[in-house]
Amino acid sequence: MRSITVASGKGGTGKTTLSALFAHMAAESLNVVVADADVEASNLPLALRLEHGSCEVFEGGLKAVIRADRCSACGVCAEACRFGAISVDDERYRVDAVVCEGCGTCAYVCPLDAVSMVRQKAGEACTGMSVVGPIAYGQLRPGYDLSGKLVTEVRSRAVALGAVHGADVLIIDGPPGTGCPAIASITGTDLIVAVAEPTRSGAHDLGRLETLARRFALGVVVVLNKADLSSAGAREVRDLCTARDLPLLAEIPFDPALVDALAGLASGATLGDMPAKSQAMRIVRETWEQLDAMLSESGPAVYRPKPAWR
Ligand code: SF4
Ligand code: SF4
Repeated sequence: MRSITVASGKGGTGKTTLSALFAHMAAESLNVVVADADVEASNLPLALRLEHGSCEVFEGGLKAVIRADRCSACGVCAEACRFGAISVDDERYRVDAVVCEGCGTCAYVCPLDAVSMVRQKAGEACTGMSVVGPIAYGQLRPGYDLSGKLVTEVRSRAVALGAVHGADVLIIDGPPGTGCPAIASITGTDLIVAVAEPTRSGAHDLGRLETLARRFALGVVVVLNKADLSSAGAREVRDLCTARDLPLLAEIPFDPALVDALAGLASGATLGDMPAKSQAMRIVRETWEQLDAMLSESGPAVYRPKPAWR
């Protein structure tokens, strides 16, 4: 099973729209499995009409909990906590679970053994069936910082689903940025489709994503989305691609028809119902055909940057 990760250095570039459209186009001729690795804002299941899904608790780290029946309000724990997670209100000591780092110092210093370290529910890891095929996804609860681990769990589930269903291709909708969840979403993938927008920050964030990909020696191609919204911004992205020898696979003009298409697909339409005259839709289809060719063994060579440490 081959895999691509649709990624972007920042949010709002149209990454999920393209992931969903690629998944629909791939499903016309291939067995597809999809993974929504954007666990802090998962919406691919909506776009791909999740029909039935089941979730399991994804456990996070430990958090301190003070047992009021044992606490004498001595304040030793609050003094020891270097993260300021323990506060007192009307002589009752409490732990702010969002601030608590789970270091266990308060439990260690409490003279009355009034602090318990409790494993928290950090989110959910889910699998289900979408209109294009099996899907794995997850939801991280606000305030929890284990998104990289949850992305890894979601990817593992997607790979397992792919094996069961004999999938030809895994399409991963990656999280924005270049942090831990982004690393978890691109590690080991066959190809990164970096979606950029035509702004200076779009070019900058694309550069960061390319640097990350280079670090892992992963193949990268670029799609410049909403390319006609800023000629200066588009030029910056093109210049960056030239300077770093990055293939600019497609430039997609801004077209509300793409978002309408996604909304239509999410509510039961098929690709055949899509506006045939939309230039953006035509370019998206051509882009998918190029990606499919790149992923096939006989396809054109994929840009594979030299690792940064060489
Ligand atoms: S150290 Fe223990 S007894 Fe003292 S305030 Fe904290 S939890 Fe309560
Ligand atoms: S576990 Fe650590 S961070 Fe959390 S409240 Fe206790 S001392 Fe503070």
